[in-house]
Amino acid sequence: MKSQKSLRRAVVLLIFMVAVSPMSPFRAMAREVSTDPATLKRLVQEAHAEFKDVKEGKPADYIPELAKVPPDLFGVVIVTAEGEIYTAGDVDHPFTIQSVSKPFTAALVMQEQGDEAIEEKIGVEPTGQKFNSILATQIIEDISANPLVNSGAIAAVSMVRAKSAGERFNKILKFDERLAGTKLNVIEEVYKSEAATNQRNRAHAYILEAEDRIYSDPIEAVDVYTRQCSIGVTAKQLAVMGATLANNGVNPITQEKVLDPNHVPKVLALMMMAGFYDESGEWAYTAGLPAKTGVGGGIVAVVPGKMAIVGFSPRVNDAGNSVRSAKAIEYIAQRLGANVFGG
Ligand code: GLN
Repeated sequence: MKSQKSLRRAVVLLIFMVAVSPMSPFRAMAREVSTDPATLKRLVQEAHAEFKDVKEGKPADYIPELAKVPPDLFGVVIVTAEGEIYTAGDVDHPFTIQSVSKPFTAALVMQEQGDEAIEEKIGVEPTGQKFNSILATQIIEDISANPLVNSGAIAAVSMVRAKSAGERFNKILKFDERLAGTKLNVIEEVYKSEAATNQRNRAHAYILEAEDRIYSDPIEAVDVYTRQCSIGVTAKQLAVMGATLANNGVNPITQEKVLDPNHVPKVLALMMMAGFYDESGEWAYTAGLPAKTGVGGGIVAVVPGKMAIVGFSPRVNDAGNSVRSAKAIEYIAQRLGANVFGG
């Protein structure tokens, strides 16, 4: 009896030791994402080398000034939640943030008014349509779809509390600067170029006004939105913005608490569902990371609690998503086992 008992004890102890050991199959199931410096350094360099010669897509030209950006620029960056930075290629070249600004402005509104305000006044449903689809704005009644497509993003801008358009833009810029931990500037040529050609966004704003779904003067909101999209960032700065989300709202470089941690999962949920617009399903299926793209060629992906992975490459596909940036992020995410769904 006694020996049976001690045998059982020994077996239980053995199972426990296997379970907690670094070789444990249970650990593998929990999928610890590596932040080992040598691995991250190697993966960033490999991803850059692997896709540097890909020529698929072309720089967006519906904003005339964007067509002038040298298409071969290519940068890949990881910034970890501890503030470690790993880079390859053109990571210090400023480009316009474009739609990558959208989740950050949504975060600012959440910070000011609570995350329910986004759900109630804009909506959180993916459209499955292009980022500037007028049809989507029209058919999704009572909501402006979500803050990551143009209509919802213009609505989000209009929600930022301010007495004037100037004050509203400054609030957005300051918030982005705190996320990036550095001063940022508008790239004026791109702003002027888009401001002269953004009739479609004005149409969105007027449709929103007709449905009582915009919360400042509609044309003023489009102008502030256009300025917001023209803020210049480098891939490195954008990666710090993403790493602030990965680090639960605390900038890992400056240590400033920029966003309440309870809003972070809401921002990431929006990015997961709509960050790649009409390619969001495919991105979730292949990379499995919350991410946001912009027609300037930037993409930021967030590995929650761990790091941001950023790509910058001006050639975009029909959905407006940077081809090489997406490939590089997916390459790194797969090798790190960073898919948030596991597997
Ligand atoms: N400023 C651009 C627009 O409104 C942003 C679009 C994008 O990056 N997908 O069309």
